[in-house]
Amino acid sequence: MSPRPNSLAARDAAFHLHGYTNAQKNEQEGGFVITRGKGIYVYDENGKEYLDGMAALWCSGLGFGEEPRLTQAAVKQMQELPFYHTFTQKVASVTVELAEKLVNLAPVPMSKAYFCNSGSEANDTVVKMIWYINNGLGRPQKKKIISRTKAYHGVTVAAASLTGLPGLHIDFDLPIAGILRTDCPHHYRFGNPGESEEDFATRCAESLEKLILREGPDTIAAMFAEPVMGAGGVIIPPKTYFAKIQAVLKKYDILLVADEVICGFGRTGNFWGSQTMGVTPDIMTMAKQLSAGVLPIAAVLVNQRVYEALRDNSAKNTVFGHGITYSGHPVCAAVALETLKIYEERKIVDRVRALEPVFLRELQRFREHPLVGECRGVGLVGAIELVKDKATRQSFDASLAVGPNLVRIAHNHGLIIRAVGDSLAFCPPMVISEAEVVDMFVRFEKSLADVA
Ligand code: PLP
Repeated sequence: MSPRPNSLAARDAAFHLHGYTNAQKNEQEGGFVITRGKGIYVYDENGKEYLDGMAALWCSGLGFGEEPRLTQAAVKQMQELPFYHTFTQKVASVTVELAEKLVNLAPVPMSKAYFCNSGSEANDTVVKMIWYINNGLGRPQKKKIISRTKAYHGVTVAAASLTGLPGLHIDFDLPIAGILRTDCPHHYRFGNPGESEEDFATRCAESLEKLILREGPDTIAAMFAEPVMGAGGVIIPPKTYFAKIQAVLKKYDILLVADEVICGFGRTGNFWGSQTMGVTPDIMTMAKQLSAGVLPIAAVLVNQRVYEALRDNSAKNTVFGHGITYSGHPVCAAVALETLKIYEERKIVDRVRALEPVFLRELQRFREHPLVGECRGVGLVGAIELVKDKATRQSFDASLAVGPNLVRIAHNHGLIIRAVGDSLAFCPPMVISEAEVVDMFVRFEKSLADVA
């Protein structure tokens, strides 16, 4: 359906190139234009209301436009010091405050914060840090990095290489060399018939160890992992998975990088996904809900051991030759600081925990549906996996685009969700009420009924 002439959708088709979009389709149909938001709802250019079941893109934990304090924090900072940078020891006062706050909030002792503008940039920065410190430590061969099938770590060159989704590599000449792939810890999809979650977790750890031994432990520097995998399908690993994986990594002196870009800031029912999943990271990356999605800001936290290696090499080289103009941008930092205050004052973690049973109960309502293979969730993030054959767990042919079609049908019922692989993801603003959680799944039920 082509857009109305001169509508925003038509102008979008004419002038705007989208990410993660079929450009030809957008040229023909125009974009799905959102003009404003309120609470957990957003509105299109015709005024139609949608319950945003994805907090935009796993970001808008505080909803849309309901926090005048974030606006005030941004305005105040813009008036006092709209910009300063962090090169050659300079820094805005508010950036120092945010670094201190994040280091103090970390789930395990961390030493320093480095700021970026996006999750991708944060993960790329970590790859460079890892290479840099291992060169500095005189072990230039210890550079390979492990990530998992279905991982999502972003789209910049190193982050996209870490991402374990083939669609992000095709025709981009990715992944770069030195990236190793290990198993996705999704028991429903990859567990053997009759295999317990515990045994599956053991098998994942054994397979990781085999990979390390095959490649040579002294060639592998780090492993990246999302505590709960997001864009790969909201995959929640078995309870003992990370303990087993970390035992292997420790044995071979391999760093663990926790990508908290989706899981951080309460989403999984603890402040960090690492706490929910028993991860003890050496390095952490975060973005999205760090500023409730209001301004672009991301961060890397490194522990003392990593920091000391980086510090010593920067002293040897006279500089840590990496820096981003907008690293620690004061206006973004001010909004992030205020966001963290609001999370504390509103007891956002307690709120997610209180809503979790309702969210999971509503999610599990679809378990018996003939098109549904698995319903899974933790905190306020979850997914419903669609299958062609419930008994054999056979997936739909990707070319049928069942998930994306369901996403479009959901729009008719005033619901925004996201297709992630064979699954539909739910990640509503954390300020959603109990009644709104129920309403979100009622809207989904109507959408599913239109497919079946
Ligand atoms: N890491 C994870 C776990 C993510 O989900 C994302 C984005 O969705 C990223 C990294 C990349 O973040 P950005 O899109 O801000 O570059």
